[in-house]
Amino acid sequence: GEALVAQINLFYLSTSEADFQFTTSFQDHINAINNEIDTLIETFENGGSEEKIQKNLESLGLKKDAFTNFLKEEIELKVQEESATERENTAQQVRQTIINVGIVTLVALIALILLFSFTRTSITEPIQELTEAADALGKGEFPIVNIDSRDELGLFAETFNTMSQHIKATQEALTIELEKTKRLDRQKTEFLSIAAHQLRTPMSGIKWVVSMAVEGDLGKVSAEARDQLGKGLENIDRMISLINSLLDVTQIDTQKFTFAFSPQKPVQIMEDIKHALDHAAEKGKVSINIHNPKKPLSKILADPDKVSMALHNIVDNAIKYTPEKGTIDITFKERKDEIDIIVKDSGYGIPHAEHDRIFTKFYRGSNIQTIQADGSGLGLYLVHEIISRHDGKVNFDSEEGKGTTFTISLPIATEQDRKNCEKKKAEEKIV
Ligand code: ADP
Repeated sequence: GEALVAQINLFYLSTSEADFQFTTSFQDHINAINNEIDTLIETFENGGSEEKIQKNLESLGLKKDAFTNFLKEEIELKVQEESATERENTAQQVRQTIINVGIVTLVALIALILLFSFTRTSITEPIQELTEAADALGKGEFPIVNIDSRDELGLFAETFNTMSQHIKATQEALTIELEKTKRLDRQKTEFLSIAAHQLRTPMSGIKWVVSMAVEGDLGKVSAEARDQLGKGLENIDRMISLINSLLDVTQIDTQKFTFAFSPQKPVQIMEDIKHALDHAAEKGKVSINIHNPKKPLSKILADPDKVSMALHNIVDNAIKYTPEKGTIDITFKERKDEIDIIVKDSGYGIPHAEHDRIFTKFYRGSNIQTIQADGSGLGLYLVHEIISRHDGKVNFDSEEGKGTTFTISLPIATEQDRKNCEKKKAEEKIV
C-alpha cells in the first residue's frame, strides 16, 4: 500500500496529460479494489453469509480483472508509444545524418569553388596570359603582361616584360642598322652600275683602236709590237668581260633583270652552249661530251637567254678549271617535276673548307688562283641568282684534285605554262 502511494505521488508529480490520466485511472482501480477488500473484510467480520462473501469475492475478482486489463492496455499503449518513439528517433537520426552529409557536401563544394576560383585567378589565368604573350613575342610583337601579384608568377611576368622591352629596343636598333646597310648596299650597287657603264664605252673604244692597230689598219706594226698589242687586246677583253659581269650583277641585285619564261628544250640549250664553247675547250685541250637521254626529255620552263647565261658559266668554269686531257660530261635526268642538268668535270675541284662560300660575290678558289688568274668571282653568284629566279636549284659536289659536278635542277613546263606562253605571245602580237 505504501509503495503504491509513493508510486501514485510520483505520478502526480508528472506534468504530462497522458501521465495524469494514467495516474487517475490507476488510482480509481486501486480505490475500487481497496473498497471491495474493505467490503469483504467488513462482511467477514460481521459474520456475513458464505454466499455474500462469495459475491464480494467475485466482485473483487472483477475489479482485479478490470485492473489487470487496464494495466495490459496501458502496457501495450506504452510499448506502441515506445516503438513509435523509436521509429521517430530513427527517422530523426536518418534526417540528421542526411542534413549532416548535406552540410559536409555543401562545405566541400564551397571549398572547391573557392579553390577553383583561387587557382583560376592566381595561377591558370596568369599562365595563360604569359603563354599568349610568349606566342605574340614569337610572332614578332612585343607584348606587356599585366600580372599584379608578388609571387613567383608576378616576378616571372616582370622578367618577361623587361625581356620583351629589351627585344623591342634591340629590334628597333637592328631595323635602323639594317636600313642603313640596305641604303649603303643600294648606293654601292648604283655606284658599281654607273662605274661599269662609264667604263664599258671607253673600253669598247680602246678595244676597237687596238684591234685596228693589230690588224695593221693604223699603219705598219712590227711583229713584236703586234704581239704586245695582242696581249693588250686580251686584257681589254678580260676587262670588258669583268665590266659585263659587274653590270649583270648590279642589274640582278636591283631587280632590273627581267625574265620571260617559256618551255625550252634542255638538250638543245646544252648543245648550243657546247657549240659556243668548243673553241675554248679545244684551246684548253678538254673534251665535252653530251650524253643524250634515252627517252626524249620534257621541256623546262625557263628564260632562254638567262638560263643559257647561267649554264654557259657552269660549262665555261668546267673548261677553265680542268687541266689538259680532262673531260666534261653533260647528262640529264628527268624527275617528277624537275629536270636535272648535270655537268661533271675531272678538274681541280673546290677545297672542302670553301664549299659554303662558292655562291658569294667575288669568291675565287684558293687552289686555282695561281693556275688560272682570269676570273671575277661573279659567275657562280649570277648562276645561283638566275636559277633561283627560275624556282630551280644549284647543287654541287666537289673534291679537290678529283673534279666537280654541278647539278642544275629546273622545273618542267606544264601544259598550262605552254598555254600561258602562247596566250602571251598572241597578246604581244596584237599590241
Ligand atoms: P670565276 O670563274 O670568274 O673565278 P665563278 O664565280 O664562276 O668565278 O667561280 C668562282 C670560283 O669557284 C672559281 O674561281 C673557282 O675557284 C671555283 N669553281 C667554279 N667552278 C669550278 C669548277 N668546275 N672546278 C673547280 N673550281 C670551280
